[in-house]
Amino acid sequence: MQVPYYDTKPQHTELKQPLLDKFASLLESGNFVLGSEVEAFERAFADYCECTYAVGFNNGTTALHIASCILNIGPGDEVITTPFTFAATSWGISYVGAIPVYVDIDPYTFNIDARKIEAAITPKTKAISVVHLYGNPCEMDLIQDICKRYNLYLIEDAAQAHGARYKGQSVGSWGDVTAFSFYPTKNLGACGEAGALIMNRPELAERARLLRSHGSVQRNLHSVVGYNYRMEALQGAVLNLKLAYLDQWNRERFKIAEHYTQGLKALPITLPTVSTDAQSVYHLYTIRTDQRAAFTVHLEQKGIGYSTHYPLPLHLQPCYSHLGYKPGDFPEAEAAAQTVVNLPIFPGMTHEQVSYVIEACTQFFV
Ligand SMILES: *Cc1c(COP(=O)(O)O)cnc(C)c1O
Repeated sequence: MQVPYYDTKPQHTELKQPLLDKFASLLESGNFVLGSEVEAFERAFADYCECTYAVGFNNGTTALHIASCILNIGPGDEVITTPFTFAATSWGISYVGAIPVYVDIDPYTFNIDARKIEAAITPKTKAISVVHLYGNPCEMDLIQDICKRYNLYLIEDAAQAHGARYKGQSVGSWGDVTAFSFYPTKNLGACGEAGALIMNRPELAERARLLRSHGSVQRNLHSVVGYNYRMEALQGAVLNLKLAYLDQWNRERFKIAEHYTQGLKALPITLPTVSTDAQSVYHLYTIRTDQRAAFTVHLEQKGIGYSTHYPLPLHLQPCYSHLGYKPGDFPEAEAAAQTVVNLPIFPGMTHEQVSYVIEACTQFFV
């Protein structure tokens, strides 16, 4: 048996005809960028996230960039964030000349440790940018409270957490602005690249729309220097069709995660921890082992896909060497980077495939 790390084919089988119909009607209309398909998705996605506004982007990284712009984060400002995430979370800070200030993670959830944030606040701190890693929400009540007390903006990177909840409240509805990615492998994925910002304040939404499209309020009139970060009509159409399936797909991920947890709990490895306040959407199912090198060779021999997100934390990346961090600064992030293994999980993954992965793990660890 072969088990891919991720497979988008199952989710497209059922949707193939409606997707082809959408594409045909876009070819007829000739409207390929923004337009009614994107607007319809923006409305539906804002509703889904229990927010007032959504603004579609061409990917999650550009959305993170504009999140910093609309909050007036700029050169010399500090933004507190996690070193254990995909690099784009920090790109959103660096693109505007601000400085990422890292805080170590909680070793159980892999998310920024809310209890360590306050010690990193300085007079230059302008915002906190958190990531709901692997689909597991951060402790948003604690983090929101710190932002209120210190008058800081709160940015959520929910690129891996579409539909996740904390204390019953949707991710993305806690912060001033939240970024999503719809890269094809995310819980809600486009057929290509796409992203979005969501927010409640109308002036933030207006500024995001302006910056996304050349700073133009009308054709050939540019009120500010803008960008071309627009969402394609095709991606808006695809995402709107898929949004109706997101909860069902997240439930499938949850069942797969439960199956893994039942099957792996007796093994000498660390399984994902989800607090009773959190509803994870299991973007990834992540275990920890000190024997990662040998274990991943074993998975390869068994034809099982895996990843090790993220093997080098951001404070140790060459691009951030000027920030002056060194190995040992964030021991929990560094330990996670050396021990995590993400097992296959995707909607449409069969019971037999999950059992096969469990068997392969058992063979290795027992
Ligand atoms: C995928 C991802 C991004 C970037 O999104 P793109 O659409 O690939 O630009 C940002 N942050 C996190 C945590 C991600 O997983």
